[in-house]
Amino acid sequence: MEGIDLKGKTAIVTGASRGIGKAIALRLAELGANIVVNYRSTPVDDLIIEIEKMGVKAIAIKADVSKFDEAEKLIKETVETFGTLDILINNAGITKDALVMRMKEEDFDSVINVNLKGAFNTIRHASGIMFRKRTGRIINITSVVGITGNAGQINYSSAKAGLIGMTKSLAKELGSRGITVNAVAPGFIGTDMSDELSDKQKEAMIGSIPLKRVGSTEDVANLVAFLVSDMATYITGQVINVDGGMVM
Ligand code: NAP
Repeated sequence: MEGIDLKGKTAIVTGASRGIGKAIALRLAELGANIVVNYRSTPVDDLIIEIEKMGVKAIAIKADVSKFDEAEKLIKETVETFGTLDILINNAGITKDALVMRMKEEDFDSVINVNLKGAFNTIRHASGIMFRKRTGRIINITSVVGITGNAGQINYSSAKAGLIGMTKSLAKELGSRGITVNAVAPGFIGTDMSDELSDKQKEAMIGSIPLKRVGSTEDVANLVAFLVSDMATYITGQVINVDGGMVM
């Protein structure tokens, strides 16, 4: 991506072991950033090797972002290793779909705790560092269902709508310190998460997308790379869809 140089920057990508998070980690590394690969359980040794081959540094930090103290450890270890933090990508997410009358309380709570509280937990510990530096980039990966709603996903869509509110409030709180906060809302992207849908559901979804295809993880990573770069210094508090025109 010509014109984007992240050399010397330190970026944390939560949930970077697979899917969209992995693609973001690789793209930011390719552009020169040192990367903290956060994960919950999937091993990331090969990914660390792949990133380091690009000539940047990478470390893996296992932390469940839904836990306040683990998120604190994630930020602390990052600063201990790299001395700073410039870019925080809150990507970690889960789904536990069910219609409201069948949804278990623990499935409502866990989806809110990972997708919404997880972002608060990391930002709570990272914002002070960026505040003192008077610069920083925060990207929250939300979803188009946070805008439109979706039957069977009251937990997930509530969390993603919450992330949009959080993004806008933070943009107002942190803007005077040169920190931008934006939300990226993917539509239907090919990953393990979207693979849980039946073939019939996938077909119906593709039918509703003007560009008539499933998005790639790179489609999302490209937008994130732009938003964390110096080309996007005047963009904050925005929700930008990467959805092939699904929601407009
Ligand atoms: P995915 O393939 O299921 O990967 C999820 C990632 O999140 C994994 O790396 C997983 O780590 C990590 N994770 C889950 N819970 C975690 C926790 N408590 N702490 C730390 N990491 C955790 O999902 P994806 O499709 O790439 O989705 C990435 C983000 O995009 C999510 O926020 C999702 O809601 C959003 N999104 C996706 C789509 C889509 O169509 N795929 C659409 C809209 C929005 P482990 O591997 O260690 O479990």
